[in-house]
Amino acid sequence: KIHVKGLKKSFGHVHVLKGIDAEIKAGEVICVIGPSGSGKSTFLRCLNRLEEATAGEILVDGQSITEKSSNIDKIRQHIGMVFQQFNLFPHYTVKENIMLAPVELKLKSKEEAEKKALELLKRVGLAEKADAKPKQLSGGQQQRVAIARALAMEPDIMLFDEPTSALDPEMVCEVLDVMKELAAEGMTMVVVTHEMGFAHDVADRVFFIDQGVIMEQGTPEEVMDHPTNERTQSFLSKVL
Ligand code: ATP
Ligand code: MG
Repeated sequence: KIHVKGLKKSFGHVHVLKGIDAEIKAGEVICVIGPSGSGKSTFLRCLNRLEEATAGEILVDGQSITEKSSNIDKIRQHIGMVFQQFNLFPHYTVKENIMLAPVELKLKSKEEAEKKALELLKRVGLAEKADAKPKQLSGGQQQRVAIARALAMEPDIMLFDEPTSALDPEMVCEVLDVMKELAAEGMTMVVVTHEMGFAHDVADRVFFIDQGVIMEQGTPEEVMDHPTNERTQSFLSKVL
């Protein structure tokens, strides 16, 4: 469970997040939508402390991750993140990419990590690509490897920042399907996305972020089919 209280983030004089309050329950899938520059990525990055909050507090299962004294490495092990750019290590094979973090952090032996990597590759439909190098794969395949790599840490929470935005249209589905499966298995997920169909089908709740606050939140039906906020209406009329 994630509890965000009065989260603010500024870069110098630019106030990007102006007070975000949210509770995300275990197993919930939250899709975050909103205009460019509204603070969606910044919000996500605060959730695993890639950005330090300027004010406010974030608790994960009751533990503060915003306090200076919190053990951020430990926290990040439980929070996986997938970005628009897949950022795979080009000189390692697919399998090695997935094994790397658990072995480096001594969470698993090489053998265990390899077994897990192969299992994860099967799960994302890429069992036969274990020994390929990232550049031999399509964008959609690379992104599925990036998801497998995040899952190798056995996270409780997965954050996705526009995971399909860099993909050719025909590859979007294969990545969304992996995410749908993960959601169905009960993973807690926060997904920044422009894929309105995905948000509508998969999200338990949708956050519409605009001007650094959650302007509107609710079920997909509430926020996307019957938005009450004028800015949500205006945003949706442009993207739907
Ligand atoms: P997009 O849909 O385009 O990805 P976003 O909603 O994810 O947009 P953010 O990336 O969170 O928006 O950025 C919000 C604002 O914060 C923008 O005005 C951006 O320029 C600013 N910003 C983000 N990161 C930094 C940084 N490291 N330094 C200064 N300003 C930043
Ligand atoms: Mg962004």
